[in-house]
Amino acid sequence: MFWFKIKLFFQQHWIGLAIAAIVVIAVLFPIWYLAGVEENTRKYIISMNVASMPWMVLNTIIFVGFLYLMQSGGLSALKKTRVDAGAVNIRFSDIIGLEEAKREAWEVVQLIKDRTRVKAIGGKILKGALLVGPPGCGKTLMAKAVATEAGIPFLSVSGSEFVEVFVGVGASRVRTLFKQARAYAQAHGACIIFIDEIEVIGRRRILYDAFGGGSETNSTQNQLLVEMDGLSGSDANIIVFGATNAYEGLLDEALLRPGRFDRKIFVDKPNLSERGKLFAHYLSRISYDRGMDLARLARKSVGSSPADIENVVKEAALIAVRNSSAQVSYKDISAAIERIELGVAHRLSMTPRERERIACHEAGHLVTIYLCHPTDDVFKASILHRGGALGVVHHMPIEELHVPDRDSYIGWLRASLGGFAAEKIKYGVTSSGVGSDFASAAHTAHRMVWGMGMGKSGFIGDYSSIRESERSAVITDLLEKETQELMREQLTEVEKLLTENWKIVERFTAELIKREELDYDEIALIFGEFGKPSRMLHPAAEAAEAAPAPWLPNPPGA
Ligand code: ADP
Repeated sequence: MFWFKIKLFFQQHWIGLAIAAIVVIAVLFPIWYLAGVEENTRKYIISMNVASMPWMVLNTIIFVGFLYLMQSGGLSALKKTRVDAGAVNIRFSDIIGLEEAKREAWEVVQLIKDRTRVKAIGGKILKGALLVGPPGCGKTLMAKAVATEAGIPFLSVSGSEFVEVFVGVGASRVRTLFKQARAYAQAHGACIIFIDEIEVIGRRRILYDAFGGGSETNSTQNQLLVEMDGLSGSDANIIVFGATNAYEGLLDEALLRPGRFDRKIFVDKPNLSERGKLFAHYLSRISYDRGMDLARLARKSVGSSPADIENVVKEAALIAVRNSSAQVSYKDISAAIERIELGVAHRLSMTPRERERIACHEAGHLVTIYLCHPTDDVFKASILHRGGALGVVHHMPIEELHVPDRDSYIGWLRASLGGFAAEKIKYGVTSSGVGSDFASAAHTAHRMVWGMGMGKSGFIGDYSSIRESERSAVITDLLEKETQELMREQLTEVEKLLTENWKIVERFTAELIKREELDYDEIALIFGEFGKPSRMLHPAAEAAEAAPAPWLPNPPGA
């Protein structure tokens, strides 16, 4: 009983007892010690201690300060996030293409400017907009343009900046960010917060995970939701722009609810005429050959984002400098595209026999694509070693295909088999060079038969999505057979086509051995000699004419 009381006493008062013990030791021990030493030494020790007191206090302050700083997000918390509206001087006229998105964004500008009017007529005040689209297509640019046009400050952060080791630090950053934004909004009338990569904090919330790993994003996201809800109550005119290139289904539903990011602006990749304009825009900053066919460049860069095009032009300028030419020419740009897409070319030393085999293989691809592909066009054929490939035939859909049909798939399948067929016809035996071609042929045929009902037997449905254990062996067998049959059938077609046009294959083999690289014009010229018409489907004029209607009756800053 007695021991239990003592134990309880210790449990309840251990902090007090510990402090008392420390004080006793810290005070009594020095006194006892000093009492035992000489007068002079005692004075010396005491004065030394007194003299060093301020230094000790300063050390303590620095130590505690650092501890606090680390707790509140480390040195990066000191970073200033403010960028003045003056510093982001992007006008709507600087954004090329994206007419639809610009129209939406212009509405946002109007809403920011006319907030009081919107309020007076009882309209809903905009709080957040989500910019969705692939990277490098102008999401940041669009948000900056809104800030510039509305003449308000622009605060920019990235979602990954909120990810911290310490739970709660991300949330506290969100709080700080909104506090800062409120201060700017009060001073300037309104403020934009731009959160790049919002999917990092906006992912669907995980309620638990084994190590509590989900909780940091959760608390950050909850804080974001709380702050955004707070915007409606307050008078602060803050608009939050979130940018993401992830599928929006990845984002938490709570974020997309009305009153949060309830407006979506799609910032998509540029189309043919927009790419032409982007080339014109970026080339206008450097000196370039005015006779260059921009429409052809636009066709050659199907699938490129504006940032890619900017990069190509910069790379082309470097190539022109290296070649000590005063102007950037079509060839430089073409070389830049290939360097970026296919890697730097270099010569491998190989036997003439091997070189001939590679040339024949590439000629097979080239002739197959040129003569029978319904959607792709050949831009270049090369037997230079690039990024692991011994040769390439660079082909691209004539324009973006959103729903390729069976003919296109057959075209790609044949294209992959062209090299193999040519080697087989010429040498009877084939080489290891067909490895990657076969991989893509098998993949295409498999997808056609297994997933898209494009086989002959009439099996419809996506069988790849069904687990093996749930699929009957008979069906698996049939699908496998049909895939193989499809490939064989197309190989026969390709062999027939190449045999009929063997002269053209031989000619390209010889040309490739001689010149190593052939460009579109050179390729079209040779086909012309054999009476095959040029495949250029969009003449230059057509692309230039296809200018979209003005997006605003009175474009601002234009
Ligand atoms: P995102 O935020 O979509 O990843 P950015 O807005 O940061 O892309 O764009 C990257 C760069 O690409 C910009 O700095 C700009 O130079 C260029 N760019 C992107 N889209 C456009 C466009 N529509 N018009 C002109 N330049 C663009």
